[in-house]
Amino acid sequence: MVKSKMTIQTLGWTPALQKSFAGFYQNGFEPARVAVEDKHYYVVFTAEASLSAQVTGKVLHAAGETAELPKVGDWVAVKSVPEENKAVIHHVLPRRSKLSRKVAGRETEEQVLVTNVDTAFIVQALDRSFNPLLLQRHLLMVRDGGVRPVIVLNKVDLCDDVPARLAAVAEIGGGAQTLAVSAKTGRAMDRLAQLVQPGETIVFIGPSGVGKSSIINRQLGAEAQTTTEVRASDGKGRHTTTWRELIVLPNGGLVIDTPGMREFQMWLADEGVHETFPEIEALSAQCHFSNCGHTREKGCAVLAAVEQGALPRARHEGFVKLQREQALLGKAAQRRQFQERIRKSRAARRILNESVPEGF
Ligand code: GDP
Ligand code: ZN
Repeated sequence: MVKSKMTIQTLGWTPALQKSFAGFYQNGFEPARVAVEDKHYYVVFTAEASLSAQVTGKVLHAAGETAELPKVGDWVAVKSVPEENKAVIHHVLPRRSKLSRKVAGRETEEQVLVTNVDTAFIVQALDRSFNPLLLQRHLLMVRDGGVRPVIVLNKVDLCDDVPARLAAVAEIGGGAQTLAVSAKTGRAMDRLAQLVQPGETIVFIGPSGVGKSSIINRQLGAEAQTTTEVRASDGKGRHTTTWRELIVLPNGGLVIDTPGMREFQMWLADEGVHETFPEIEALSAQCHFSNCGHTREKGCAVLAAVEQGALPRARHEGFVKLQREQALLGKAAQRRQFQERIRKSRAARRILNESVPEGF
C-alpha cells in the first residue's frame, strides 16, 4: 500500500478538535475526516491512511434526516481495521460550518453538501458570462453556512474596465474580500494563495467555465498525488482507488473538490438561470409539462405570454440563450470529468504496477 503523506493537521485537525475528542480517544476511537460520500459508503482519511467506511446501524437509525449522516468534510470518530483498509463510523462531530441547499418542494429538507469549510472562493469571470445575481446568491449561501466568502474575479485579462467591475461588485459584496485575478497570466495569484492558511479547508464555487480548475491546478499548484492510495489486494483480487477529492495545496491548505461539489455547481448555475428570470420562473408553474423548456412545448405558459405581449420577446430570448449556454457548459464539464476519470485510472494502473510486491 502506498500511504498518503498526510498528517491529521494537514486534514484540518485543530487543538480545539483534539480537546473535544478526549473522551473518544479513551473509548478507543480515532478521528478521521470524510473525503468521499456515495450513498452509505464513505472514504475517510485518518492520519495514516485512507479507509473505506460505513456508519454503524445506530448512527443510521438515529439520523432521521439525511443531513445528520456524515457528509464530506465531517470529522468522525471511527474504529478502524487498518489491515483491511476499513473503518466503521460511530459518531459525527459537531459541524463548524456547512454549505447546503434546501431541497425544492420540501421546505424542511436540507441537503448538506460539504461541512467544516473555512473559506469559499466564489468565482466569476470578468467576461460576458459575468453574473452579479448568481454572485449574490452564492454569497448568501456561503454566509448562511458560516463560511468566509472571498470573491474571485477571474479572467481579468479579458476585461477592459476592471475598476467599474470592482465597483459594481463592491456594491453587492457586503464587505467580502475581493480579488481580480487571472489564472491565465498568473496575475494576483500569489495574493490568492496567501489567503489560504495551512490546515484551512476551502472550496471553490462558481459556474462552469469561470476558471476554477485552472486556478486550483495550474496556479495554486495542487498536488493530486498526495491523496492517492493503492490497495494491493483484499482477497477478491486487486483493487485500485485513486481520488483527488481532497487536494492538498503546497502551503498546506485543503481544497475539497468532490463530485458532489461539481453537482452542486451545476445546480447553482441552473438556479441562477431561474433567478435571473423570475417572471419566467413564475409563469412556468402554469406550463402543461413540469419539465417544460419553454421553447416549443405544448401548453407552455411562457410562450403564451410572449404571444399575448405580456412577456417581452427579448426576455424570453435571453432566457433561452442562457439556458442553452448552461446546457453546453454542463456537457463540456461532463466531458472534462470523463477525460479526467480516464486519466486517473491510467495513473492508478501505473502506480499499481510499480507497487505490486514481487511474487504477486
Ligand atoms: P471551471 O469550469 O470553472 O473549472 O473552468 P476551467 O478552469 O476549466 O476554465 C475554463 C476555460 O477558461 C478554460 O479554457 C481556461 O483555459 C480558461 N481560463 C481560465 N482562467 C482564465 C483566465 O484567467 N483568462 C482567460 N482568458 N481564460 C481563462
Ligand atoms: Zn413552458
